[in-house]
Amino acid sequence: MRHIIVFLILALSLHINFDLAAQTYKKIDRVVIDAGHGGKDPGTVGKKSSEKDVALKLALKLGNYIKQNLPDVEVIYTRKTDVFVELYKRAKIANKEKADVFISIHCNAASSTSAVGTETWIIGATKGERNLAIAQKENSAILYEADYEKQYDNFDPNSPESYIIFELFQSAFRAQSESLAAKVQNQFSNRLHRVDRGVKEAGFLVLVAATMPSILVEAGFLSNLEEEKYLMSEQGQNEIASAIYRAFKEYKFQMEKIDEQAKQENTKHDSLLAAQKLAEANVETVGAENNAELIFGVQFLTSKNVFKNGSTELKGLKNVWRYKDNGYYKYVSGKFKNIDEANAYAKKLRGSDFKDAFVVAFVDGKRIPKRKALKMLRK
Ligand SMILES: [Zn+2]
Repeated sequence: MRHIIVFLILALSLHINFDLAAQTYKKIDRVVIDAGHGGKDPGTVGKKSSEKDVALKLALKLGNYIKQNLPDVEVIYTRKTDVFVELYKRAKIANKEKADVFISIHCNAASSTSAVGTETWIIGATKGERNLAIAQKENSAILYEADYEKQYDNFDPNSPESYIIFELFQSAFRAQSESLAAKVQNQFSNRLHRVDRGVKEAGFLVLVAATMPSILVEAGFLSNLEEEKYLMSEQGQNEIASAIYRAFKEYKFQMEKIDEQAKQENTKHDSLLAAQKLAEANVETVGAENNAELIFGVQFLTSKNVFKNGSTELKGLKNVWRYKDNGYYKYVSGKFKNIDEANAYAKKLRGSDFKDAFVVAFVDGKRIPKRKALKMLRK
């Protein structure tokens, strides 16, 4: 158990680092596709099929759809042929490749041949007998590994006690994994009208060490005769792979849009700061002057209410002052002698939170019409 704890703590600290990096998130352009099982590990076996074969077909088709339609995305496979790959190595590949998303593809089985439908899993606590059964089924793949006892420090995939460790595990990518998983299930149920068994969580060894949003797709039941036929058919495989592809595309676009918005917010914030600096610099020079002089400011807000400096309505603008007009408070930022500087500042405020900001003129603390101010300037 010690080793798996170290393994989990390491995964956990990596998650935290990655989460900080996620503040300045980048494009979703690297995906690792993991075809479950392979080689000496057939996975679930149906009447005519093996999970390892169906999973590989689905993985390769998914990769092709992504490559054809999203050329900016690099697709990396944990296996492209019928070979055995240890569970711990699969996440390791994704981490080493700095993948943005990890998608593991599997097929389901149940003792009842009527069990049918798809479910998408994320890493989490293993609650309930059925969830435990699925995690046990998938984690049992390590029993094919030569020194699994050493590698997973005596983690026994078949012992319920082993799964307690996952309750301590908090994935920093839970929200993103859940979002992607929901999109996959959505595609399966809405587009393909398949039975939606939902997004679920359990302790999957293949997901636990992955330092990126990760999902495990159970694409259907090989233990159900009809679903096995669908999973083995060219059309069924194309449909399933394209459903996962569409979910990935939606997720990618959504994440990149959020990123783009964050970037725009940052630029907006920067220009606001620069504008404030400019206004503050001008306040100092104007403050010492005789206020009978003509000054310009930028009016950005009108309200019946009094807002103090630092209140949220002022959106962080400092050097704000106000004058009363017709029962309203008019809020002005900056004091400029030079109208060009006032115009530049107004433009910057319009580009940030105050779309209607405009230049106003004052003499002796009283607002005067702008055209009168311009006349005064010309003198
Ligand atoms: Zn599997």
